[in-house]
Amino acid sequence: YTGKSGTQLLTENLMKIYVKDYQAVPVVVRENVSVYDAIVTMFLEDVGTLFVVDENGHLVGVLSRKDLLRASIGKQELNAIPVNIIMTRMPNIAVCERDDLLVDVAKNLIERQIDAVPVVKKTATGYEVIGRITKTTIAKAFVSLADDE
Ligand code: ADP
Repeated sequence: YTGKSGTQLLTENLMKIYVKDYQAVPVVVRENVSVYDAIVTMFLEDVGTLFVVDENGHLVGVLSRKDLLRASIGKQELNAIPVNIIMTRMPNIAVCERDDLLVDVAKNLIERQIDAVPVVKKTATGYEVIGRITKTTIAKAFVSLADDE
């Protein structure tokens, strides 16, 4: 018996959960695809956030559901508008890395009021997108803490 309280044990376990243990597969689109095609991709891939990359595969933007909804209001030709016009762009993108603690990513999601961040690998030329963490990821990790007991 360690003499540790339940809260201490919970905290200890929380501090062992890393991005790499829970990251999901990212869905990316190129910056020149149309808003229409991005909407189709979001439905087909069943995700709420798309990450936008340039021709070198480097992260340049993020598209949320509401970004695409906003662009769809009014009489715009959705086939003619490329996503790089409406996306949230670098350097204002919150990212994380494989070896980050999941709890720190969760704090960032709350602080910035966003649903997802890309997991990136930093290279000399930019960020390569290798995964994604979403509110669903956080919920899964939360449940796993309870199962641990
Ligand atoms: P929604 O807009 O569908 O509610 P979010 O809350 O995730 O979804 O997005 C809110 C805004 O923040 C959107 O404009 C989106 O482009 C932007 N955003 C989403 N994820 C990120 C991120 N990782 N870094 C910076 N901005 C982001």
